Amino acid sequence: MKLQDLGEFELIDRIRRRVTNGAGVHRGIGDDAAVLSLPDGHHLLTSTDLLIEDVHFRHDWTDCEALGHKAVAVNLSDIAAMGGSPRYLYLGLACPGETELDDINAFLKGALDEAEHHNVVLVGGDTCRSPGPWMISVTVEGSAPAQQAIGRDGARPGDLIMVSGTLGDSALALHLLTAGKKPEEALLTRHHRPTAQVELGRLLGEYRLANAMIDISDGLAGDLEHILQASQVDGLIEEDKLPLSPAFRRHADRDAELRELALYGGEDYELLFTVAPEKASEVVALGVELELSTTSIGVIHKGSGALSLQDRAGAVRPILVRGYDHFCRF
Ligand code: ADP
Ligand code: MG
Repeated sequence: MKLQDLGEFELIDRIRRRVTNGAGVHRGIGDDAAVLSLPDGHHLLTSTDLLIEDVHFRHDWTDCEALGHKAVAVNLSDIAAMGGSPRYLYLGLACPGETELDDINAFLKGALDEAEHHNVVLVGGDTCRSPGPWMISVTVEGSAPAQQAIGRDGARPGDLIMVSGTLGDSALALHLLTAGKKPEEALLTRHHRPTAQVELGRLLGEYRLANAMIDISDGLAGDLEHILQASQVDGLIEEDKLPLSPAFRRHADRDAELRELALYGGEDYELLFTVAPEKASEVVALGVELELSTTSIGVIHKGSGALSLQDRAGAVRPILVRGYDHFCRF
């Protein structure tokens, strides 16, 4: 069956029936606007992302369920990066009328499973026909206790620079796919089904462990530069300390160009944050509790936004940031 045989309103009704409204949802899908509440004393956090076919994803590389998962996960990651709890989800969906209903169902399964996994409720959206590419707009609302949200601008000289998980796996998978090769499962999963570090982000906020935080969507160097510039400090990271997965090492050990993907490759969706040195052991313990590695990769210095790298031989050089820019090609 195709989308045009089902119709917009039947699709919305099916979505509505699939969703269970949780705490705080006074009205969800089905009215002109959702009616929601937040816990007392919390501020509202909102983040939105667009996913466009052939810009952000390709149907021949990504199955629809993974696409739904990723569309939601990357937004949850933004709320995590503020030290907040994600709560409500909105889904804007534009697809051609000839789209198979099975593909839409798979997409919704991926999106809703990921939302439910983090106790996030779909409370609204919009559905329309696209003349060509799929266009997906996902908005997540979350909350954090007043004054507790962690911005990019709080890094202080002396802070350690820390990162969760491993770097470069997603970019390496994309690099191999683009070259017509088949990446191993461990890398593909990092690319197609990224994990949003929701619990780590929330707890770093709750325990006031991070001074500044961002999620890595455009690559370590580019996103760290956002923190350095917002905080008006310099950063020095050590190449030797970058956390790399076994699969990444197998590919990149003898290939300097591939190793750069750990610095510049996008879509890790790990958390990058700065921590006062006396709190670093608490962060590591929290990671152990969550079965997640947290690694100190460098230090914040007085300055005005410059990033440097100490290579394996001990030489220090400024880093040229090459984060992804939709309108500029480097
Ligand atoms: P309107 O004409 O006011 O835009 P719609 O008919 O588009 O209303 O939507 C009816 C209800 O269904 C609204 O509550 C809207 O938020 C919800 N809705 C529409 N599309 C989606 C979707 N893709 N996912 C979740 N909720 C949706
Ligand atoms: Mg509408």
